This record gives sequence, C-alpha cells and structure tokens, in this order.
Amino acid sequence: MALDEHWFTEVFEPSGSAFSLRITAKLHQEQTPYQRIEIYQTTEFGYLMVIDGCTMVSSRDNFLYHEMMSHPVLFTHAKPQQVLIIGGGDCGTLLEVLRHPQVQHCTQVDIDERVTRLSEKYFPELCASNSDPRAELRFDDGVKWLQDANPGSYDIIIVDSTDPVGPAEGLFNEVFFRTCHRALRDGGILVQQSESPLIHVELIKSMHHAMRNAGFSNTHSYDFPQPIYPSGWWSATLAGKGRDLKRFRESESRHKSFTTKYYSYAKHLALIDGVPLLNTALK
Ligand code: SAM
Repeated sequence: MALDEHWFTEVFEPSGSAFSLRITAKLHQEQTPYQRIEIYQTTEFGYLMVIDGCTMVSSRDNFLYHEMMSHPVLFTHAKPQQVLIIGGGDCGTLLEVLRHPQVQHCTQVDIDERVTRLSEKYFPELCASNSDPRAELRFDDGVKWLQDANPGSYDIIIVDSTDPVGPAEGLFNEVFFRTCHRALRDGGILVQQSESPLIHVELIKSMHHAMRNAGFSNTHSYDFPQPIYPSGWWSATLAGKGRDLKRFRESESRHKSFTTKYYSYAKHLALIDGVPLLNTALK
C-alpha cells in the first residue's frame, strides 16, 4: 500500500505497525497466476520488491536474510552436498549456498518464474550464481515437489518462502514437514524462515510442534535483524533428522573461504543459545 507518491508503506495489522521506504518511482507491477509483484526505486535502499503488498527484498539489506538463511544450516551439517531451496525466487539464498565448496548441487523450486525473471533485471547481484553448473532452477509448487521427491534425496532443505498465506500456506504444516523428513538423508537438516519472534511466537511454536510430530528429532530457532520485514526482527527454525543442531563445523566457519557481511563464527556461536523469549515460550 503506498501512502503517497513519495513513500511505499507496508501496514502490518496484527502488530499495529507499519514500515515505510521513501520512493522515487514504481518501476514495475504485474499480477502473475500466483501473486502480485511490484518493484520500486527507493532513495536509500536501492530497489525494493514487494509481493502481495509485503516487502520481500531490497538491494540494501537483503544480505542479512540471505546469509542467515544459508550459512548457519550449511555449517551445522556435517557434509552438505545436495541442497534444495523451496521458494527463494530472488536467488539471494542460492547465491549464498553456492559459496560453500562442499555443495555439489542446489535445486531451487519457486512456484513463480516471474519472481526470478524480475530479480534478474532488478537484483542481478543476487543472480550471479544462477549459471553455476551446480545450480538448477525449477518452477513448481514446493508442496508438490516434496510430495514427489525420492526418499533420502537431500542433505539440506531451505524453505525461503513468502508468509504462510496464499501459495506458501501449505509450507508450514506437519504434512509438508513429513515430506521434508522423508526427502532428507539421515543427518539431514531443514531450515525455514519462521517470521518475527516479536509478533509470531504462536506460529513459531506451532512450527516446532509440527516438525517434531513429522519425525524430526530436534528443532531450534534463531534470530537476526531484517529491517524491511514487520518488526525488523526475524527468525529461522532448524529441524534436524538425527543431527545435533548445537554443533557446527567451527573451524570451517571460523576460517571460511568467502566473505560475509553479517554471518560470522561468533554469531553462529551466539545463535546456538537461541532466543530466550522463544526458548521460554517453547518450554
Ligand atoms: N525473503 C522473503 C521472505 O522471507 O518473505 C522470501 C523471498 S522469496 C521472494 C519468497 C518466494 O516464495 C516467492 O518467490 C514465492 O513465489 C515463493 N513461494 C511461495 N509459495 C511457494 C510454493 N508453494 N512453492 C514454491 N515457492 C513458493
């Protein structure tokens, strides 16, 4: 929702809050078979992609989300070779996953090809690894993809989806998590963006319960800042298939072969403690 021609504003009713970015132009809008996509030019955050009225990705702050949706799970896994991304159409998570030399193949399944085509135009820096021979971009429903997946296909599944409404609604329940559990190898890990610890504690609790009921031996949520999302405070939730989520490849994290802007060994150590607010709620 744009308040006036100088600002884009996302009103988040559940928390009685709103977030605005100063804009100079709406560069694109289209209604795809799945969602409404808008692209804005902002004065301080570069380009902004909005899906169904919700901020998705900005040029300036997307690194926080993409680094924290990928590096914690990849360094937690003992030997991540086969990775699946559900959603992730802007390709920023794919970019971070492929920084890991152990990764042999990463399949990205987004329901809406138009997200990726628009990202190639407005966020080419996020699409820099799309031509990596290890990358495979598919356009399909993630729910169906996991229903059809062969058992033991993946070491890691990353669910980088929109909020649990509309096309993404089916990605946040026990039935879906059961298909993820089956598609993962022993020692495999699922990580899913799990909304705001400030606003969505009940959703996060329900995700933990659904993941454990789906057969995952342990679950763990961690947090990170994400200015353009409601409350500016975001989370991701890990689910392990026989993997201790509080151990990670510390030396490889500390001496990683690539640079990051937010993820670090120290931050990974810190995320192991989780979020006290959530830990209390999950007791
Ligand atoms: N960082 C964003 C966030 O946390 O809200 C997510 C970014 S990414 C653009 C979200 C993607 O999820 C979109 O491209 C959308 O098309 C995709 N998506 C939604 N439902 C899906 C489904 N059922 N299967 C595959 N992709 C889906």
